[in-house]
Amino acid sequence: MYSWQCHVCACSNKATSVRCEHCGFPGQATGKEITDARQKYHGTTPSSAVPKDNSLRSLQVLFAPLPLWRKSIAMTALFVATSAGLVAKASLSIESVLLAFAVLLVAMLVFGLAMSSTIEPQQ
Ligand SMILES: [Zn+2]
Repeated sequence: MYSWQCHVCACSNKATSVRCEHCGFPGQATGKEITDARQKYHGTTPSSAVPKDNSLRSLQVLFAPLPLWRKSIAMTALFVATSAGLVAKASLSIESVLLAFAVLLVAMLVFGLAMSSTIEPQQ
């Protein structure tokens, strides 16, 4: 009878097991311990560790190293861009389509700036 799944290798373990029978990872661990152990287990490429995640999870991984305010800007810009895209799709007049695309472009620019500035060193 299996009762818990390993956080690292995803193998099933017996209820009586304190550690994973396959990789030895403890059944009880903090989020950071799990993340670190997963990276070790799956190798140094984090992309292979999260192949089946939905786009929201991928975004969270992408935003993870960002400071909160930058995260907020990026998320807001992404939200505005998505909304503008939907408005552009639903628009009947050419003016509103152009306006929506203008908003979309600005939002994507803001998003790009919020994301790219993390790569460059702080002045
Ligand atoms: Zn395991």
